[in-house]
Amino acid sequence: MSLKGKTALITGSTSGIGLGIAKGFAAQGVNIVINGFGKEDAIEKELKELEANGIKAIYNGADMTKPDEIAAMVKQAEDTFGAVDILVNNAGIQHVSPIEDFPPEKWDAIMAINLSSSFHTTRNVITKMREQGWGRIINMCSAHGLVASPYKSAYVAAKHGILGFTKTIALEVAQENITCNAICPGYVRTPLVENQIADTAKARGITEEEVINDVMLKAQWTKKFVTVEQISGLALFLCSDTAENITGTDITIDGGWTAA
Ligand code: NAD
Repeated sequence: MSLKGKTALITGSTSGIGLGIAKGFAAQGVNIVINGFGKEDAIEKELKELEANGIKAIYNGADMTKPDEIAAMVKQAEDTFGAVDILVNNAGIQHVSPIEDFPPEKWDAIMAINLSSSFHTTRNVITKMREQGWGRIINMCSAHGLVASPYKSAYVAAKHGILGFTKTIALEVAQENITCNAICPGYVRTPLVENQIADTAKARGITEEEVINDVMLKAQWTKKFVTVEQISGLALFLCSDTAENITGTDITIDGGWTAA
C-alpha cells in the first residue's frame, strides 16, 4: 500500500532527525505537520520545500512540555487532514551533567519533552487512528534506551521509559492495524549532539576531539555517525505493509554499539 495521501505528525521536526523524517515522508506523498522551535522564515522555507513534493504541510509550534498545546496541535492536524495516520514522537533535548550538579528543572524538562509528550500526543491521536483502522506510531528512542552512559541520568531514564510506553501501546492497539515501535539510534551529528560535545568534554575533563573519537565513535563499532537519511528510511519501512507484524519492539541503528 502506498503512503500517498496519508498524514504524518512529527514532533521536533524543525531540525535534525525530525526534519529528515519529514523530508523522507513528504517525498513519498505524505502530508506533513511539522513542530518544534525555530525562526519564522526558516520554518516557512521548510514548509515550501516539503510542499514542493506536491503535498500539504502545516506548522504547529506546540511546546512539548504543555499538554493543552499538544492537544490543540493534534486538533489542528485532524481539522486540516482528517486524521493523523503516522505519529512520530521525536522531540527531545539533552543535558549532560554529574548527578550532584544536575539541575532539577532540567530533569523535569527532559521527562516532559522526551517522555511525557509521547503520552499526550498518543492519547490524542489514537481515537481517529482507530476509526481509520490504520496507524503507525514511531517513538524516537536512542541507544540510551537500552544502555546507559554516565552524566545523562534524565535522558537515559526518559529513553528507557519510552520503551515501556512503546510496548504497552503496541499491545493495546495490536488488533487494529496500528503498530507502535521505537527506533534506537546511536550518535547522529545533529544540533543536539553538536551542543553536547563541549559539555561532555567538561564533565569528563577531556578535549572535544576526544569526545568525538573516544566517547561517541568509540561506542559505534562502524566508526561512522548514523545519518538522518538512514533513520528516515527506517521510519518509512516501519510504515510499509512489510512491517505490519513488527510492533512493540525497538530497532537499533547504532553501528553495533549495543551489540557489544
Ligand atoms: P535536534 O536538537 O536537532 O532537534 C530537536 C527538535 O526538537 C527541534 O526541532 C526542537 O525545536 C524540538 N524541540 C525541543 N524542545 C521542544 C519543545 N519543548 N517542544 C517542541 N519541540 C521541541 O535533535 P535531534 O538530534 O534531531 O534529536 C531528535 C530526537 O532523536 C530526540 O528525541 C533525541 O533524543 C533522539 N536521538 C538523537 C540522537 C543523536 O545522536 N542526535 C541519537 C539518538 C536519539
